[in-house]
Amino acid sequence: MSERLIVVIGGGISGLTVAWRLRELGVRAEVFEADEIVGGLAGTVRPEDGRYCLDFGPHFFITQKPEIVARVDDLLRDSVIKFKRSAQLYVRGRFLDYPLSARNVLFNFPPLDALLSVLAFAYAQVLQFGRMLAGRQRPAADFGEWSGRQFGTHLTNIFFKPYTENFWKLPCDQLAPDVLPASTRLNFMKSLKLLFMRGVKGNVQSLIERELVLPLRYPVRGYGMLAEGVAERVRTQGGTVHVGARVTAVERQPDGRYRVAVQQSGAVRSVIADGVVCTLPVPQLVQMLTPAAPPAVQQAAGKLGYLSLIVLYVVTRKPNLLATSYVYYLGRPYHRLAEMNKFCTTLCPPDENMLAIEFSCHAGDPIWRSSADELLELSMPHLVQDGVLEPAQVEKKFLVRAPNAYPIRYLGYRKNLEVVRTHLEQLPGLALLGRTGEYQYIDSDQCMERAIELAERIAGAAAG
Ligand SMILES: Cc1cc2nc3c(=O)[nH]c(=O)nc-3n(C[C@H](O)[C@H](O)[C@H](O)COP(=O)(O)OP(=O)(O)OC[C@H]3O[C@@H](n4cnc5c(N)ncnc54)[C@H](O)[C@@H]3O)c2cc1C
Repeated sequence: MSERLIVVIGGGISGLTVAWRLRELGVRAEVFEADEIVGGLAGTVRPEDGRYCLDFGPHFFITQKPEIVARVDDLLRDSVIKFKRSAQLYVRGRFLDYPLSARNVLFNFPPLDALLSVLAFAYAQVLQFGRMLAGRQRPAADFGEWSGRQFGTHLTNIFFKPYTENFWKLPCDQLAPDVLPASTRLNFMKSLKLLFMRGVKGNVQSLIERELVLPLRYPVRGYGMLAEGVAERVRTQGGTVHVGARVTAVERQPDGRYRVAVQQSGAVRSVIADGVVCTLPVPQLVQMLTPAAPPAVQQAAGKLGYLSLIVLYVVTRKPNLLATSYVYYLGRPYHRLAEMNKFCTTLCPPDENMLAIEFSCHAGDPIWRSSADELLELSMPHLVQDGVLEPAQVEKKFLVRAPNAYPIRYLGYRKNLEVVRTHLEQLPGLALLGRTGEYQYIDSDQCMERAIELAERIAGAAAG
């Protein structure tokens, strides 16, 4: 057993998995989580003594990595169901398959839109292919241009641009071309195959493809069971996971170790760590560091930020609220609806169902400050109009909030992130990890992979 202690800030799936692997490799690990529950974005809140299981936006687990599948199956055993995801886009009063299919665009769209969409898409793809052949590719300047190249101008103007602006609450020309996660982007040939044949063969890399061919796993008492299972493993292997423990300062000591200040139950205590893994929002880490980061680094960190999420769960006895598990909306105050019984029927009492209504917002804005009643009032006319729910069918409602749900890829964010990372990477023994900590738009399976790799590097460095 190594005597070195690694302090992990944040008990989301990344922080817990790094601690789990460190313990397996014989390294001491202590996790500090500010919230009262573990799991972070992948956690589940269970009000009314666990009668309801509420994720921070409905999640499912999907991966191709055998090691991760084996770990997840071992953790959850028979507490997991497998299902196929189905989703739709609601555009111009019509429902389209997601991902888009050519048949759907041709037959479910108003005829003129269908024609223009297909022609513009084909033109965009030919242009892209031509540029590639001529060696004249140049990166798109912003998301609007990227989307036009990828999907064609018509679909961009009627769906992707307005949807993106409504989701991020920012104009497309302020968003970087890679504002969508890399895992949802497809290359030319794969886009065509998906669009026309729904064909996914060979090396399946994008999330869109993976969702079409791989089973999705969902734990029967909410997605948080996964993180809770990992926390349990950390503890049974001799590690510690503290909840309600907020880290407030990280101070580098003259001997190279770190003093980590933790606020818990009204008291502040210090832990001396040989290494620190940070999964909390990176601008917050910069603010809590001593010695303080240079002004240029603090300025760059101040230009990074996260989009927040509020999920309103409406409990109803109405079955079959939606045709698919998710529907993405345009022209509504929310951007996505999900029917929880289409994920798993054990998240609420047997004769009930839940509609998850997702609102993206910026922390502190009017949506963020709204109550459950106000958000329901805002949504109800649209839910009635779309035939989803009537006011009399609402039994009760719950709200969950995630202040740091999505790292925002502002135009030029890369430069600011680079400045911050370069400074932090010079600090020996301090590592950034995860979606929130690394400012990467990644999913929980990728968080687990990175956590395992990081633990192995830390343990290897200690052994070496
Ligand atoms: C709406 C939505 C849907 C998603 N759907 C899926 C999906 O279907 N499948 C999937 O695999 N992934 C999905 N994801 C992504 C997945 O949730 C994340 O990739 C993953 O949960 C990130 O984990 P993390 O540990 O890196 O970060 P986080 O979960 O953000 O963990 C950071 C932790 O640090 C804690 N913390 C912050 N400040 C402090 C402090 N000062 N002291 C101590 N602790 C602190 C936070 O409370 C938090 O628990 C989704 C994300 C969202 C927002």
